[in-house]
Parts: sequence; C-alpha cells; structure tokens
Amino acid sequence: MISLSGKEFLETNIKEFIIPSEKVAHVQAGNSLEHALLLLTKSGYSAIPVLDPKYRFQGLISSSLITDAVLGLERFEFEKLETMRVEEVMTKDFPTISIHADFKKAIELLIDHPFLCVVSDEDYFEGIMTRRVMLKQLRKNIYHS
Ligand code: AMP
Repeated sequence: MISLSGKEFLETNIKEFIIPSEKVAHVQAGNSLEHALLLLTKSGYSAIPVLDPKYRFQGLISSSLITDAVLGLERFEFEKLETMRVEEVMTKDFPTISIHADFKKAIELLIDHPFLCVVSDEDYFEGIMTRRVMLKQLRKNIYHS
C-alpha cells in the first residue's frame, strides 16, 4: 500500500514547478498557419500556446487543428497555410490555471490536458505546468514517503 503525505503534497504551490514562459515555444494570434506549423514541427510539440504581444494567453494551436483547417474536399490546400492566421484556427477551449494554484487543482485539470497554461493575477502568461512534471513530483513523493 502506498502512503502519501497527501494533504501537504496536494497543497504544494505550482509556481516552482512550471516551465517559465521564456522557455515555452509559442506563437502570436496574427502569425500565419505556416509559421505555427513550422514551429510545431521543429519543436516536436503537438500543441503550443497562442499569446498576444503583451504576453497574455489567447488560446492553443495544434498541428491537427492546422491540418484540419486546410483540408479541402479532396486534398490538403496547403496554399492556405500562408494566408490563414493562427487566430482563425486556434481553440480557446483550454483551461488556464493561476500561478497561485496548488497541486490539487493542477492534477484535476491535468487529467484531461497534457499541460496547463499558467497565468498571473493580471492574466499574463507565466509558463506551463505539464503532466510529466506533475507525475515526476508524484513519483518522488511516493518513493520517499
Ligand atoms: P511533455 O510533458 O514534456 O511531454 O509535454 C507535454 C506537452 O506540453 C507537449 O506536447 C507540448 O504541447 C507542451 N510543452 C511542453 N514543453 C513545452 C515547451 N517548452 N514549449 C511549448 N510547449 C511545451
């Protein structure tokens, strides 16, 4: 039977465990789909945040959203990659989490999402909290309890 110092663990603040904004690959809402697809492909990430010029979170863009957007009736209309903008395709249906939130809140959201966008009180993008980081912390906690 695994014994966790549950309450303490769940009340840990996420702040120290996020990947800071300067290390997070992102695009801006006005960027072309071509730019976004290039960044997604080169970074190897399947989805990255969309920010505005003031670093406020706008949404999420993924390779599958892009390929779906340029899919015509019979073929991929790749010429659209140049003309279409990220804001036309991004999803806003993605939760953000406060920088002040604890592990409990993060775990609940990470069940359905591989990472979370972390925002300040003023809604500025602070970074991301990933499922991988959370699982590592959970593993550490389990093995050392
Ligand atoms: P990981 O837990 O490292 O596999 O990351 C899960 C997901 O989080 C990736 O597929 C990306 O969508 C996102 N992600 C992780 N690290 C970064 C990063 N440095 N920049 C942008 N997105 C990231």
